[in-house]
Amino acid sequence: KNPLIAPERNEEDALESSLRPKSLAEFTGQALARENLAVFIQAAKARGEALDHVMFSGPPGLGKTTLAQIVARELGVNFRSTSGPVLAKAGDLAAILTNLEPRDVLFIDEIHRLNPAVEEILYPAMEDFELDLVIGEGPSARSVKISLAPFTLVGATTRAGLITTPLRDRFGIPIRLNFYTADELLSIVERGARVLGFELTTDGAREIASRARGTPRISGRLLKRVRDFAAVAGHPVVDAKIADAALNRLEVDAKGLDAFDRRYLKLIADNFGGGPVGIETIAAALGEARDAIEETIEPYLLQQGFVQRSPRGRILTANAYTHLGLPAPARDPA
Ligand code: ADP
Repeated sequence: KNPLIAPERNEEDALESSLRPKSLAEFTGQALARENLAVFIQAAKARGEALDHVMFSGPPGLGKTTLAQIVARELGVNFRSTSGPVLAKAGDLAAILTNLEPRDVLFIDEIHRLNPAVEEILYPAMEDFELDLVIGEGPSARSVKISLAPFTLVGATTRAGLITTPLRDRFGIPIRLNFYTADELLSIVERGARVLGFELTTDGAREIASRARGTPRISGRLLKRVRDFAAVAGHPVVDAKIADAALNRLEVDAKGLDAFDRRYLKLIADNFGGGPVGIETIAAALGEARDAIEETIEPYLLQQGFVQRSPRGRILTANAYTHLGLPAPARDPA
C-alpha cells in the first residue's frame, strides 16, 4: 500500500500536528457534527457538568482525534488519550480513570478493540462514575467501589459495527463522520498551504483536493509532497499543472486511487470476472489483512461507486471498468 495515501496515521503525522485545526471554528466540514457539538458543549458548560459521552465513528483520517482534542479545548478541561489495544488489563484503565479531574476528556481511540475485561469496568465508570474492582483472588477476593470524578469519554472507531451493544448504549452523543466534499477539502488544502507558508493557486489546491480520497489526512500529506516537488523543481508558485505532475509521480490517479486500489479493482476484474467474490478471497489474493482492506481500502471505493457489497461478495461496477479502461463484461440478466 502506498504510504502516502494510506489513511491510517503514520509517524510523520504524529510528529506534525501543524495542520490540525485547534477550535470548532477552524474545523472545516462535517457541518452537522460541528453544530451539534457546539450546542452540547455550550449546554454542558452552562450547567457546569461533564459533557455526555461522545462516540466518533468513520474511516481513518477524517478528524476523530482532532475533534476529540477540540472538544476538550472548548470545554476548557484536560485531554487524556489512550487506545483500545494499549489497555491490556482492567488495572491499566482503572489507573487512568482514577487520575482524571472533574469534567476531563478521556479519549479512547480504536475503542472497538478493547479487551472485554477492560470494557466491563468501563460500563459503571461511564454510567455512575464508579469503578467496581475485584481485589485479590479465590475465596479471599472482595470487590471494592471507588468513585470517580465525572468525566467525558470520547471514543473513536473505524468499525462502528464492531462496538458491543452495551458499550454503544452508554454514549449519549454518537457522531458519524463522512468523507469530505471536494469543496470542503479545497478549503482545507488552501488553509494548509497558508499554514505551511507557500503559494498555491486555487486550481492547484483543487487538483490536490480532488485526489485526496475525501480525507483531510491524505490531503495534508499530498500537500506536503507536492510542495517538495515544486521546491526542488524551483517553482515558487504551485499551480494545477505542477500539482498534477507531482501527483502523477506519486502514482495517485485522477480519482485519488493509488496503485493498491487499482490492484484491488483489477484483481476482481481480471481474476473473478467482476465478482461477486468474497472478502476473504480478495484479502488472500492481495496478501493483506481482511480488516485493513475493510477499514481503509473499501470505504472510499464503495462511496465512489467503484465496488458494491452483496451477500455473495464484492461486485465491480461499470464505473470501475471505465476507470480502469477495461470493457465491462456482459452480465446475465438477473
Ligand atoms: P482520525 O482520528 O479520524 O484518524 P485525525 O483527527 O487524526 O483523524 O485527522 C487526521 C489529520 O487530518 C489531522 O492531522 C488534521 O490535520 C487533519 N484534519 C482532520 N480533519 C480536518 C478538518 N476538518 N480540517 C482540517 N484538517 C483536518
